[in-house]
Amino acid sequence: MKNKRYIIVLITALIILLVGILAFNAKNKTYTDYINKVNEEEPLKDDTLIEEEKNLEEDNVLLKDNSIGIPILYYHSVFEDSKKDEVVIDTEKFREQMKYLKDNNYKTLTLDETYNYIKNNEKVPEKSVVITFDDGWIDNYDNAFPILKEFNFKATIFVIADLVDAHHLYLKSDQIKEMSDYGIEFGSHTLNHDNLLDISKEKRKKTLEESKVFLEKITQKPVISIAYPFGVYDQSVLKATNDLGYKLGFTTNKGWVNNKSELLELERVYVNGNAPIEVFKERISNPNYK
Ligand SMILES: [Zn+2]
Repeated sequence: MKNKRYIIVLITALIILLVGILAFNAKNKTYTDYINKVNEEEPLKDDTLIEEEKNLEEDNVLLKDNSIGIPILYYHSVFEDSKKDEVVIDTEKFREQMKYLKDNNYKTLTLDETYNYIKNNEKVPEKSVVITFDDGWIDNYDNAFPILKEFNFKATIFVIADLVDAHHLYLKSDQIKEMSDYGIEFGSHTLNHDNLLDISKEKRKKTLEESKVFLEKITQKPVISIAYPFGVYDQSVLKATNDLGYKLGFTTNKGWVNNKSELLELERVYVNGNAPIEVFKERISNPNYK
């Protein structure tokens, strides 16, 4: 009897020990598994996170204030010009510049974003740029528009209203509508590329007002901007544009826009169509470019 009881106690003790060991092992196994899993997954997770954070940073580097400014580029025609007129840029060269902007994380601003940046110090990405075209040539639709779409860029085209649907080298109203629906913005370049300093007060009002109404009819959107033909204007031109509801006026005065810029006298950055890409790079990275 004594032996039997001893054996029962021994077996019970063994069972308890066994369960204990199993339980310990099971716990250990789970923990080891967990560590292994973490070690296996962590580097991958880290890389992805770092990459994501990097992208987030690059996308969200905002200018602290609007004192440094941003460049507003202006182009005219985009096509292969055998005469190599400097106001014309080759399509491939234009594409090279747009690709450079894309590859270097530049963001293109709308007119509203530009307005709010200058007027209200609203934050914009550090690498912001505004793209504009003067005159409204048909090659803006044929050659520039596909490239802007390719890079998902915003831009504004300043149109000479009387030439729309009237000249074979000029934009047609259905092309303006199509681009506007896509998100390209349109501004006035007067009715007939008028020198605003050379015409009567009445004619000035007419050309500023009718060109605006004309574009609003086509696009069904408010027209808030004008580029002064030949880049010329004076105080009475500024008063007239302001009275007619224009919020932004684009000049050919050299430089970046910043908090000192007048909304109706915005500076722009010109790039000679024959200049090498280095000139372009300098003008969009250095507010005090030569
Ligand atoms: Zn012009």
